[in-house]
Amino acid sequence: MNGKKRAYGAENTIDAGTFGARGAFERADGGEKLLDKPSLLLHSCCGPCSTSVVERLMSRYRVTIFFYNPNISDEEEYGRRRAAQLDFVERYNGSADKPDTLHCIEGKYDSEVFEAAIVGLETAPEGGARCRVCFRLRLEKTAETAVLRGFDSFATTLTVSPHKDCETIARIGGELALRYRVSYLAENFRKDDGYRRAVELSKRYGLYRQTYCGCRFSACAAERKAVSGHAVP
Ligand code: SF4
Repeated sequence: MNGKKRAYGAENTIDAGTFGARGAFERADGGEKLLDKPSLLLHSCCGPCSTSVVERLMSRYRVTIFFYNPNISDEEEYGRRRAAQLDFVERYNGSADKPDTLHCIEGKYDSEVFEAAIVGLETAPEGGARCRVCFRLRLEKTAETAVLRGFDSFATTLTVSPHKDCETIARIGGELALRYRVSYLAENFRKDDGYRRAVELSKRYGLYRQTYCGCRFSACAAERKAVSGHAVP
């Protein structure tokens, strides 16, 4: 960390949309009608992973992306991923065949929140206890935000990655759903070629694709793996 003042504020509203709140009504002939699709707050780890998940969900839900990733240790890297996320939202909304408008909210970026959460787990291997804490940190803020803003349910793009344990993520999501009394959509988004589709769509949209998961530990691991050329989104 470089000690610079953080450039990203609390719960930025990235667009000016109505955030799919529970009970959103539209007026027709003086009456009111409940919009047919339930609202979903979709935690997004990055623009590329969100592409195929959004494609899969938009016909079933009114989706709002929640970009909340204090696990990204490097602020410049955070800015690149944030820009890619916004780029995708803009391009998606500009496409002719979208079933609905995609909205986006940014959670507060403060990498110190992540650092405080993982104290004592610095030497844990990737995929272990530190990652479980990291999943919970991001999902809990998503559940909390979903309740505060009146969403019907929440979910995460994390399950699109072949490097993430879907069962662990589903268990954490389920626990938070019970605690916050909001539905969790426990969908494995890498099923049916979800990850391959995410790569394909990211290339089509020309999105920046990172080479490591996000924290300083994964950045170091990626550097060590660089000779093998493996990308770890
Ligand atoms: S490797 Fe990824 S999931 Fe694990 S702690 Fe780091 S940023 Fe979080």
